[in-house]
Amino acid sequence: MRRPLIAGNWKMNCLQADGRQLAQDVASYYKNQHNPAFDMLIAPPFTLLTACAQQVAGSGVLLSAQDCSPFDKGAHTGDVSPVMIKDLGAQTTILGHSERRTDHKETSAQVCEKAQAALAASLFVIICVGETLAQRENGQTLEVIAQQVQESLPQETTAENTVIAYEPVWAIGTGKTPTTAEVEEVHAFIREQIQKRFGAETADNIRILYGGSVKPSNAQELLSLPDVDGALIGGASLKAADFTAIAETVK
Ligand code: PEP
Repeated sequence: MRRPLIAGNWKMNCLQADGRQLAQDVASYYKNQHNPAFDMLIAPPFTLLTACAQQVAGSGVLLSAQDCSPFDKGAHTGDVSPVMIKDLGAQTTILGHSERRTDHKETSAQVCEKAQAALAASLFVIICVGETLAQRENGQTLEVIAQQVQESLPQETTAENTVIAYEPVWAIGTGKTPTTAEVEEVHAFIREQIQKRFGAETADNIRILYGGSVKPSNAQELLSLPDVDGALIGGASLKAADFTAIAETVK
């Protein structure tokens, strides 16, 4: 059985005080669960990783960065290495989020290099894939997803060290979501791609999250789909009440 993962991507939000408070609220919610059958994770900006590590310590809430350098150290001004992220107490990093693919022109090949560096630093990785609206309208969704999965995931991928997040670009922060049939089609397709490259056991066990305008009111129907193993949540993860209400739907 795949353990659901409820992950909050804070993006470039929160200062010290509200970030600490949000992390503390999520930590106390999760700590109060008796033997939770799901994982919970927050991905604050780099500036808040240390503070959030303190807030979630001992709660079981996982801590993630939102990106990492493909290098461990050296002359890379402005970058943060996976070794540094690990050193701050995080267990994972998001990679290849569509905002990075767009804002920073990140390619799947670069995402793959970052993933290799993160895995070498003993982080697990959350690799995002997703089609644009134009690609969906042109009937290219599965082709785009196949290529992103193929090129972004390194050969070292296992069900334990990797989580995939399917995030249609047009659904991120827009309030629009694909139909449940469209979500299930892409998730099942991703699992098929994984099976072809990494084998049936990896495909059966790897977690595939859905992301894109998940909120308390639509979480239940999205998260109960057979190939959906949790959610990557942006906007709704910034309010502890909404984030925890989404978590309640996978209990
Ligand atoms: C995201 O940032 O990964 C995301 C899915 O955002 P939102 O939930 O706001 O659409």
